[in-house]
Amino acid sequence: MKKTWVCAQKQQTKIKEELLKQLDNITLTNTTLKLSVDLEDLIKETTEEVIDPTIYITADAYIKMITLIQEYDTEVAAHFLVRNIDRQYIIRDVLIFPQTVTGITADGVDIDYQTWLHNIPEEQFKELRGHVHSHVEMDVTPSGVDEHYYTGLMSQVPDYYLTMVINKKQDYHIRLYDVTNNILYTELTFKILLSDDKTVSDWLADYKELIVKPTPKPTIHHARVAAQSYAYGNTYRQQSLYEEHDPWGYASDNVVTYILGNEKTNKIKPCASLTEAAEYIKDQLNTKVKTKTILKALKEKGFFGDWSVEVSYEYN
Ligand SMILES: [Zn+2]
Repeated sequence: MKKTWVCAQKQQTKIKEELLKQLDNITLTNTTLKLSVDLEDLIKETTEEVIDPTIYITADAYIKMITLIQEYDTEVAAHFLVRNIDRQYIIRDVLIFPQTVTGITADGVDIDYQTWLHNIPEEQFKELRGHVHSHVEMDVTPSGVDEHYYTGLMSQVPDYYLTMVINKKQDYHIRLYDVTNNILYTELTFKILLSDDKTVSDWLADYKELIVKPTPKPTIHHARVAAQSYAYGNTYRQQSLYEEHDPWGYASDNVVTYILGNEKTNKIKPCASLTEAAEYIKDQLNTKVKTKTILKALKEKGFFGDWSVEVSYEYN
């Protein structure tokens, strides 16, 4: 959300005060005089008391707006009925007015529009505080024509007004002209409000834990005993223990392989005994081969004493 000032009158007074303050404190020694006002600071200072607005749109109004935008391949426009409840601006309904539309314009037809406006029920007219139009497939930044139209509208607005430009991809640009506080809010977003006064995002969040993505299970491509034998005086040895058709590498000459660090995840477990190492390998390999057999295989490969076991995985 970004704030800027609208309706220059009140702000001009502020700026003049600020400049006079600076003038009073200046010692005139040179031929030129430079005064400057940091508007951002001044805006912050004069608007910090004002509560930031939140924009809502009811589900009904949202469906109407989206349907209208999707239905036409030209620009198309409508008015919003907006209710302000303690700085919560709720778009309650979308009213389509008589208009002629082209690819780049959606203009109210003068006489028909005036008649339409005239016939709006009083309670609706009080809430007629918004304008939305489509930019079809184009960018949603208001055009020069839009800016001109908004400026014209604002001269008639006593308190607040919402404008929205939206396209078929549902990119949108909302502004809130807060005339009461002389602030223009841009870069706003809206929340969709359901009939039970809950927002759609809150409703969805309530069921978040029911929808679970499974955590990927590791597939073991290699399981090796990477072993450090204290009995062998810290000789670092590694033993391939798992191949698809020859789990213990009996048929393979290349039984001693060095891990080169290609695996994405390695689990390393220091084991107090060779039996513990065998149990750990069995557990990690999820194999039907008995611990006893693994232990035998380890011994046959020349592992004795205490070992660390490293099992390498790759995730699918
Ligand atoms: Zn436009």
